[in-house]
Amino acid sequence: MSPERLGNFGTEDTDAGGEIRRHGISASPGIAIGRAFVVDADRLVVPRTRVDDVESEVSRFEGALETTRGEILEICADMTERMGEDHARIFDSHLMMLSDDTVVGATIERIRAQHLNAAAAFEETVDAIVRSFDAMKDEYLKDRAADIVDVKRRVLRHLVGGSTTRRALDEPSIVIAQDLSPSVTAQFDRAKVLAYATDRGGRTSHTAILARSQAVPAVVGLESLSARVSDGDTVIVDGNTGTVVVNPAPETLEEYEQERRRFQELEEQLLTLTGYPGITLDGREFGLLANIDMPSEVAFAVEHGAQGVGLFRTEYFFISRDELPGEDQQYAMYRDVVERLGGRPVTIRTIDIGGDKVARYLPVAAEHNPFMGWRGIRFCLTRRDVFRTQLRAIYRASAHGTVRIMFPMISSVDEVVEARAICRSVCDELRAEGVPFDENTPLGIMIETPAAVAVAEALGREADFFSIGTNDLIQYTLAVDRGNARIAHLYRNVHPAILRFLRQTVLAARKREIPVSVCGEVCADPRAVVLLIGMRIDAFSASPAVVPEIKRIIRSVTFDACRALLRRVMRLRTTAEVEAEVDRFLAEHLNGGGGNTT
Ligand code: PEP
Ligand code: MG
Repeated sequence: MSPERLGNFGTEDTDAGGEIRRHGISASPGIAIGRAFVVDADRLVVPRTRVDDVESEVSRFEGALETTRGEILEICADMTERMGEDHARIFDSHLMMLSDDTVVGATIERIRAQHLNAAAAFEETVDAIVRSFDAMKDEYLKDRAADIVDVKRRVLRHLVGGSTTRRALDEPSIVIAQDLSPSVTAQFDRAKVLAYATDRGGRTSHTAILARSQAVPAVVGLESLSARVSDGDTVIVDGNTGTVVVNPAPETLEEYEQERRRFQELEEQLLTLTGYPGITLDGREFGLLANIDMPSEVAFAVEHGAQGVGLFRTEYFFISRDELPGEDQQYAMYRDVVERLGGRPVTIRTIDIGGDKVARYLPVAAEHNPFMGWRGIRFCLTRRDVFRTQLRAIYRASAHGTVRIMFPMISSVDEVVEARAICRSVCDELRAEGVPFDENTPLGIMIETPAAVAVAEALGREADFFSIGTNDLIQYTLAVDRGNARIAHLYRNVHPAILRFLRQTVLAARKREIPVSVCGEVCADPRAVVLLIGMRIDAFSASPAVVPEIKRIIRSVTFDACRALLRRVMRLRTTAEVEAEVDRFLAEHLNGGGGNTT
C-alpha cells in the first residue's frame, strides 16, 4: 500500500479531458464503477414567514418532532433487525436531539419571541449549533454535526412538506453525498450500493465504519465533490487508494475496469486461502489476526481467514453514544465479541479516547496538540472510574473465551506498572464478589511511541505481550502528522528509522520471551510485510479485508529469503533505496511488485 492509503490527505482536483479526479480518505477497500446516485439532490427550501398564532405554531413544531421520533424509531428497529444493535445505537443521539433543550427550547423561544414560523426558527437554531461544531477542528465533532443536520432535514420535511422517503435506489449505484447520516445509510438496500463517496467524514465517521463492516468500497473527505456530480454520471470509486473519478475518459475507464477485475480475481483467489495457515515456503508460521471496531465485524474477519482479533478498538463503542456505557452494557458487548469468535482469541484494547476520538460526555478541554495530549492510557490513569468499569467488564467477558487486555499509548514503565496494579485490584474485587473471570488474562501494551521503543526491554518485564501500533509510531517517530496532506510524502512505512525501531522492539520482545505482533496499517503494505517476516514477528493484525493478502505474501516467500532481504535493507540509508530493494524482491517472489496491495 502506498503511503497515501494511510490517512487523511485532503483532495487533489485534476480535471483532464473532462474527467474529474479527486483524492480523499480511503475508508473501505475495493473498487467500484457505476452510475452516480446523488443523495443531497433533494434539498429543501425553507420559507420564512410571520405567524400570528404562535401557540398553534409551537404545537405544529412539537407534532413534527413526534412524527420524526416515530420515524427514527422505525429505522432503528429495522436496522437492529438487519445489522444488529450496535449499528442501531448510533440513532441514540438523534433521538436525544429531539428533546434537547438547546434545540427544542431555543426553537420555541424563537417562534414566540420573533413570531417566526417553526421551520425557519428550527433551521436557524440548528444551523447555529452546526456552525459552532464546524468551527472546531475535531473530526469526531464534525461527524456529530452531520447527525444534527440529518435530524434537521427530517423535521423540516414534516414542517414544510416534502417526503422523508428518499428516492429509491432502484439500480446498483455509487452513492454520492455531502455527508451520509446513519439514518440515510440505513435505508439503502445494501445489495444496491456499489460504493460510497462523500465530501465529509473521516476514517472514524459512521459511513466509514459502516462501509467497512458491510465490505463496500468507500472514499470520504472528498470536500466539494458532490456538487460536481449529477445523477447518472459514471463514477469510479477506488477505496484502495482513496481516489474517485467522475465521468472518466475511456482510457481511465478501461484502466479501472482492468484494475477492478484484477482486484476481484485476487479477492476470489485470496479467499480460497482462508482455510490455510500463514506459513512460509520454508515452514515458518505467522499468526493472522484482524483489527475490528465493533462486534458485527467478527464474521467478516473470520470469513477472511483471521485466526482471532488482534486489536479490538473499544473506543468506537464509547464515542457512538451519548453517555458513558455502564459495566453491564460493556460486558454484553465484549462477551458478544468473545462468543462470536467461538474460541478464537481477542485482544481488547482499553479505550484510546482523546486525539481524534472524542466522546462528548467525557469532555476533554480543547488541546493545542491532541495527539500528544490527554489520550489513551494517560486518560485512563486519570479517569480511574472509567478505566475500572471497563476493566471489570472485560474481565467478566474473559470467563467466556480467550481474552487479552492491551493498553494504548504507553510511553513509560510507570504507566504499565500502574495499569497492572489497577487490574490486580479489579481482579481482587471480582474475586471477592464471586464473579467468574480468567485469572490468567494476559496484559499487554501497544508500542506506538518512540519512548516505548527506547525502553522496550524494560517494558517487556512488565508486559505479557507487545503489539506495535505503526500508525502512531510512524507519525511520532518521523514527526509527520498522518492527517496532513502537505507532508504526506514524508510518511514512509519503510523509512530506515522505522525499520530500526521495529527491529529493536522485536529484539526486546525476544529477549523478554514475550510475543510481539504488529497491528498498524503497515500490515497492508507488502514491502513492510516481507520485512516484518524477516524480523520474525509473531503475528500480523490488520483490517479483515487485508488478511488474505498478507497470507498470500507469507505463503509466497521463504523466511530465509526475507531475513536476507532484511539484512541487506538494514544497511541502506534512504527510504528510496529500501523501497527499491524490497520492490525487486517482491517482483521476484510475488510477480507483483511493491504497489500490489489488496
Ligand atoms: C496504531 O497506532 O498503529 C494503532 C493500531 O492504533 P490506532 O490506529 O487506533 O491509533
Ligand atoms: Mg494508535
